[in-house]
Amino acid sequence: LPWFRNVPSAPADPILGVTEAFKKDVNPNKINLGVGAYRDNEGKPFVLRAVREAEQQIVDAKLDKEYSTITGVPEFSPLAAKLAFGENSKVLQDKRVFTTQSISGTGALRIGGQFVEKFIPSKTLYYPTPTWANHLPVFRNSGLTIQPYRYYDKSTLGFDVQGALDDISKMPEGSVILLHACAHNPTGVDPSKDQWKDISRVVKERKILPFFDMAYQGFASGDVDDDAFALRYFVEQGHNVLVAQSFAKNMGLYGERVGAFSIVCDSEEEVGRVGSQMKIIIRPMISMPPLHGARIASRILNDPKLKQSWLEDVKLMADRIKSMRTALKQGLKAEGSTRDWEHITNQIGMFCFTGINQEQVQKLIKEHSVYLTNDGRISISGINTGNVAYLAKALHSVTK
Ligand code: PMP
Repeated sequence: LPWFRNVPSAPADPILGVTEAFKKDVNPNKINLGVGAYRDNEGKPFVLRAVREAEQQIVDAKLDKEYSTITGVPEFSPLAAKLAFGENSKVLQDKRVFTTQSISGTGALRIGGQFVEKFIPSKTLYYPTPTWANHLPVFRNSGLTIQPYRYYDKSTLGFDVQGALDDISKMPEGSVILLHACAHNPTGVDPSKDQWKDISRVVKERKILPFFDMAYQGFASGDVDDDAFALRYFVEQGHNVLVAQSFAKNMGLYGERVGAFSIVCDSEEEVGRVGSQMKIIIRPMISMPPLHGARIASRILNDPKLKQSWLEDVKLMADRIKSMRTALKQGLKAEGSTRDWEHITNQIGMFCFTGINQEQVQKLIKEHSVYLTNDGRISISGINTGNVAYLAKALHSVTK
C-alpha cells in the first residue's frame, strides 16, 4: 500500500539550512555565522580541557553501562542545581528544589512544557519576541497555547522595557512566562539588573509563573554566578521558578546532550509530589537520559581542579567573543562606516542582532559568501582574527 504517498516535504530547519548552504559554497573566504556553537580563533570546534580530562578519567575507571535512573545520573542533578541556584542557595538548603537530568536544554524545555500542560490550568506560555525559533514548536508540542510579549525594540536595537512590562502587566493570572536567563537568543539583548527587578515585581503582582531558559550560563559575562543573577534574584524574591539548564555551550558538550530541569517548590513534601509526576512525564518520552555526558559534567563540577580549569575556559570563550565584537565594530569604523554599530558591543553572548534587513542578508550571502540567518543574526563565535576584516568590509559594503 502507498502508505506515505501523502507525506508532504517539510521546510528545512532555518538555522541548520544556513550551514548546508555554507558547505556548498566554494569561495575560500566564506564565513559561517549561522551556527550557534563556539569556534576557536582558527574556526575549529573547541573541546574544553576539563572535558578531555574528565572523559579520560571515566574511560580509565571502566564504568559499566547499566541503565541509569529516570532522573539521570544520581550525582549529576544536585551539582547542576548548585551551579544554577548558587553554592549557598537557601532553597537548596531547605530541600525545596526538584532537579532531574534532561536531554540538554531542549529536553529540559520539553519536559517542563509537559509539566505545565499537565498541572498549570491556563496551559498558556508567553514568550519574548523574537525568541529562539525552536521554543515555539517545543512548547506547542507540549500542548501549550503560546503567546508573544514585547521584548526587542527594533528602533533602539535594545530591550523594550516598557513594552515588556506593559505586556506582562496584562497577562492573565496563572500564565507562564518564558525568560532567557542571560545572553538572549537571538538578539544578544538582556535586561539590566534593575530592569530584572522590575520584571520580577510585575511578574509577582500578576501571579505569573516564571520559566527560565538558561542555555548560556557563563557564556555571557564569562562568570557563571554573574550570569545567574536573574534566576537567583527571582528565587530570592520568593518566585516558584521552572529552570531549563543546558551544558551544551558552557561545557562545549553540544552533541552529548547534557542538561537539567528544576522546579522550585514550596516544601520538601511538595518536591516529592512534583518529582513523582516528573518521572511519569519522562519515562514514556525517553525512559531515561544518557550516561556519558552527565558523567563528564558531574566530574567537572565535583572536582575542584577540573572545575577551576572549566571556569577558566568558560572565561576564555566569553572573552574571545567579546574581543571579536570589539574587532568587528572597529573594522566597520576603519572601513568608513558611519552607521551606529554600538549595539555590537552592547549586546552579549554568542549572538549579535545586527539590525540589517533581509535584502542586506541576502547580499551578504550571495555577494560575499557570509552566511547568516534571515533575521540578521550573526554568531560571533564564527568570527576570528583571520576573517574579521573581510567580514567588516562585506558588512559595510551591504549597509552603506
Ligand atoms: N535555549 C536557547 C535559547 C538556545 O539558544 C538553545 C541552543 N541553541 C537551547 C535552549 C537548547 O540547546 P541544547 O538543547 O543544545 O542544550
